[in-house]
Amino acid sequence: MVSILIVEDEHAISDLLRLNLERAGYACTCAYDGMQAADLLEDTGYDLIILDVMLPKADGFELMEYIRPLEIPVIFLTAKDSLEDRMRGLTSGAEDYMVKPFEIVELLARIKIVLRRYHKADTSLEYGDIVLDTKYRTVTKTGKTVELAPKEFELLLFFMQNTGITLFREKIYEEIWGSEYSLESRTLDLHVQRLRKKLGLENQLKTVYKMGYRLE
Ligand code: CA
Repeated sequence: MVSILIVEDEHAISDLLRLNLERAGYACTCAYDGMQAADLLEDTGYDLIILDVMLPKADGFELMEYIRPLEIPVIFLTAKDSLEDRMRGLTSGAEDYMVKPFEIVELLARIKIVLRRYHKADTSLEYGDIVLDTKYRTVTKTGKTVELAPKEFELLLFFMQNTGITLFREKIYEEIWGSEYSLESRTLDLHVQRLRKKLGLENQLKTVYKMGYRLE
C-alpha cells in the first residue's frame, strides 16, 4: 500500500486529508509539527509527503532541506498565495504546490500524477468492477476476492494490459507459457473459459475467430 505522510498543524485540515486519502486507498500518518515529521521520517519510509509550509518548530521549507536527500516526493500546502512562496516551494524541490483552500479531488489527482512520476503508483489495474493487484497478486470483483490459478492470473493481467487489442494465440502462448503454440493444445481456451466464468467476462472477453482473443 502506498504510504503518505501528512504534515499539517491544523487538525481540521489534517483530519480531512487523512479521511479522504484513506478512503482513496492510501495509508496515512500524520505529523503536526516540523520536529515530529523529522522524527517520523527517520524511522519510516514514505512514498509521498504532503507538507504544510507554515508549521510550528520547523517550517515546511526547513523540513524540505531534511527531506530532499531522502528523495521522497513532496506536495506543498500553503495558505499563502504569493508568487514568492510558490517559487520558493518549487525551487526547494517540491513536486507540486497547492494553495489552501483546495479541492480534495484536485489534490488526489495531483498525488496520482506525482506517484506515477516516481514509479510508486498504485500497483493495481482496473477493468469495470475487477481490480487486479500486481504486487500482491490478488484479484477482486466488486470488492470480493476471486481465486485464480497462477496462469489464469498472468493471462488476466495480459488481457487487462491490452484491452481493446486482439491478442494472437501465438503471442499469448509466448507471453504466458513461454512456449510455442501448438494447434492441438486446448490449454489457452480452457484458461480463457475459466476466466470468463470466474469473473463474469462472457461478453467482454471475446473470441476472435481463427486469431485469438480480445478483452473489449
Ligand atoms: Ca499551518
